[in-house]
Amino acid sequence: MSRCQAPGHGRLGHGRVPGTGTRPLRPWPRAWHQDLSLSDLARCLALGSRGGFVAYAVRVIRWEIPGPYEVAFTTRVGGVSEGPFAALNLGKATRDDPAHVDENRRRACAAVGADLERLTLNYQHHSATVHRAEAGRMGVRGDGLWTDEAGIPMLKLTADCVPVAIARTEGTPALALLHAGWRGLLEGIVEAGAGALRTSSNSLLQGLVGPAIGPCCYEVGPEVAEPFAARFGSDVLRGEKLDLWSAAERALRATGVVRVERVDLCTACNPDLFFSHRRDRGVTGRQGVIGVLAA
Ligand SMILES: [Zn+2]
Repeated sequence: MSRCQAPGHGRLGHGRVPGTGTRPLRPWPRAWHQDLSLSDLARCLALGSRGGFVAYAVRVIRWEIPGPYEVAFTTRVGGVSEGPFAALNLGKATRDDPAHVDENRRRACAAVGADLERLTLNYQHHSATVHRAEAGRMGVRGDGLWTDEAGIPMLKLTADCVPVAIARTEGTPALALLHAGWRGLLEGIVEAGAGALRTSSNSLLQGLVGPAIGPCCYEVGPEVAEPFAARFGSDVLRGEKLDLWSAAERALRATGVVRVERVDLCTACNPDLFFSHRRDRGVTGRQGVIGVLAA
C-alpha cells in the first residue's frame, strides 16, 4: 500500500525542520506523520526525487520481514524535542531535555508495540561488542543487542553511523540490532551480530542497512580510507568519500547473511528527516533503530 499521498506529496517548505535549530519547528499536520515500509518508501522516493530533493513526514521506516518482527528505523519526525534536537531525538548524551527524550522513546516504543519500561539500550562506544538483551537494562557498554525473547524492545542510536538489523528467518525467531560506525565495521560488529544469531553454519539470516551518512557526504582521511579499501574493496571509496552503506552490506554478505536490503538515504543530505552529527557539527539529536519480537 502506498501511503505517499499527503498534500503535495509532503514536499518540503511546509513544516520544515531546521537542521541548525535556529528556527522553531512547525509541527507537521498529524495526518502527515506516516509510517512507511521500505517498499512504500522506495515508491515515494521514486515519485518525489525528480525535484532534486525528497522529504516526507516519514516518522519511521518499517522493515517488512516475515516472522514476529517489529523493526522500525526512526527519523527526526514526530517527537517533542526542540531546537537542534527537534523533534524525535532518542539520545540522552546530548543537551536535550531528558524528559523530552523519555517521551520520544515512549513514542518509538509505541511504534513497535512495546513498553518504555522494558526498553534496553547500551552505552555505545564504537566497539564490536554485542550483548544479549535484558528488559530494562541500560548503560552497559556495547554496540549491539540481540534477543530471541518476545517483548524486549531494543534500541540503537545513530546520527550518521549505520543502524543495522539482522533477523533469523528460519527456526526460532531472533533479532540483532547494531550501531555500526567506521570503527565498528572495521572491528567486526556486523560479524559479531550475525554470530550471535547463528545457531548453525547454515542458519538463514536477513539484514537491513538503515539510514546513514552516504557516499555523497562522508569524506574520510587515509587512516580510514585505507583499511576500508583493504577490507571491503577499493570501490567503497569515491575519491575521498567513503560508502559506508556498501561496506555494511558487504560485511553482512561476507558473514553469510543471505538477503540484504538497504535504505540508501543519507542522513547528512536530508536535514528534514535525519539528525547528522557531521552536518550539524555535533549539536544534534539521535535517530535509531528500534526492534522487538512480538509475543
Ligand atoms: Zn549525502
